[in-house]
Amino acid sequence: MKVIIVGGGWSGCAAALSAQKQGAQVVLIERTDMLLGTGLVGGIMRNNGRYTAAEEMIAMGGGEIFQLTDQNSLHRDFDFPGHRHASLYNVATMEPVIRRFLLQKGITLQLSTRITDVKLSDNQIKHITGKCDKEALTFAGDVFIDTTGTAGPPANCNKYGNGCAMCILRCHSFGGRVSLAAKAGVKEMIGRKGDQVGAMSGSCKLLKESLATEIQNELNKTGVAVIPIPSAQIIKGKLALKACQQYALPEFENNIVLLDTGHAKLMSPFFPLEALREVPGFENARYEDPYAGGLGNSIRYVGMAPRDDTLKVDGVENLFCGGEKAGLLVGHTEAICTGTLAGYNAAKYVKGEKPLVLPAELAVGDAIQYVRTQMKTESGLGLKYTFSGSVFLERMQLKGLYSTDTKEIARRVDKTGLTHIFG
Ligand SMILES: Cc1cc2nc3c(=O)[nH]c(=O)nc-3n(C[C@H](O)[C@H](O)[C@H](O)COP(=O)(O)OP(=O)(O)OC[C@H]3O[C@@H](n4cnc5c(N)ncnc54)[C@H](O)[C@@H]3O)c2cc1C
Repeated sequence: MKVIIVGGGWSGCAAALSAQKQGAQVVLIERTDMLLGTGLVGGIMRNNGRYTAAEEMIAMGGGEIFQLTDQNSLHRDFDFPGHRHASLYNVATMEPVIRRFLLQKGITLQLSTRITDVKLSDNQIKHITGKCDKEALTFAGDVFIDTTGTAGPPANCNKYGNGCAMCILRCHSFGGRVSLAAKAGVKEMIGRKGDQVGAMSGSCKLLKESLATEIQNELNKTGVAVIPIPSAQIIKGKLALKACQQYALPEFENNIVLLDTGHAKLMSPFFPLEALREVPGFENARYEDPYAGGLGNSIRYVGMAPRDDTLKVDGVENLFCGGEKAGLLVGHTEAICTGTLAGYNAAKYVKGEKPLVLPAELAVGDAIQYVRTQMKTESGLGLKYTFSGSVFLERMQLKGLYSTDTKEIARRVDKTGLTHIFG
């Protein structure tokens, strides 16, 4: 039973682990020289409903990655504007932790390998091809998982954003994102709100050392610093561009909100450097990611695969998907949850067993189903969905799904008969 996963972001890593736990031989292929994709510059976990989702996954036996991010957190259980009980993993050390963990599990990691084509026969992928450096490679498998995300490549950042801002995806060095589903002939969906196609990533990283000592101390001590922006430097309308609707709150327009993920995570899609340096404490500020964070950020959500609630891609018999590829779901937690289900169901497919649909009585199941149906509507394609805020957190609250009571969450999972299903 051979499972081939393309895209080593959080969803690909979770899919790899989940398929391996079902007894599969797993190859995880990643275009760049590091795993985690956009997770290399993220870090926020367990804020608002993400806590519930993580605990559901732990109760279902799919919690190892959450345990690793918890262990590698610089700050735990703190609040920032609009967000409660958040944790921040250390972005500098997270990738090697996950890399070692997956290798220990016997998963083959094929880094610096960019997949560029797919060989299909009878609606099934037979093999995929790509290159590692100059060497042409072919990977054959029983089932494939597309976790290539939706960020970039530069043509999209040029067309729908402010140009390439030189982000962590490093498209110019490793080649841009290529979608497996699209290569298999699947017509992908595009997020769109009014004139904006896709959405701009919602945060940057500043070098902590470039900030005033008081700000550094505050960040190191509490994990968060909220600095009012003098009115002349407030940039109106920037929040509307954001991929992360959960942070499109007035507090984030009128203040600089920084979070300590090792670097200072600036909760804004971009901020012109000259204007930023006018703010007291930021006189020497310098961007760490994206390098041109004064101009813009990466554009995401321009290529999502139509799929069912088992996360099988429509129209290709042996292709599953997870993370942003599976819809307008924003976040590491969301990518880990969907990746875990995709890996599990890919293995079930090879075994000839019935795939799993997570029930809507669980926040994770409801999110997967709700996003699929919402994406069929024009208005739904203009929104983003996350356990941590905005429309989906409101829905969780209305349905009584939001909870931080781990025992209650475990009981809820038990009621659905899914305790340790991924274990
Ligand atoms: C700047 C920024 C900050 C963020 N901060 C947070 C945060 O603090 N907390 C949070 O929860 N979420 C955050 N997010 C959102 C979150 O990172 C993503 O929604 C989630 O991690 C997406 O995971 P993914 O695996 O679906 O995709 P990605 O992370 O995009 O991973 C896809 C991977 O596929 C690889 N790939 C693409 N094409 C190919 C190919 N043809 N062959 C081989 N490999 C390929 C890419 O190189 C990449 O590594 C942030 C996003 C950004 C951009």
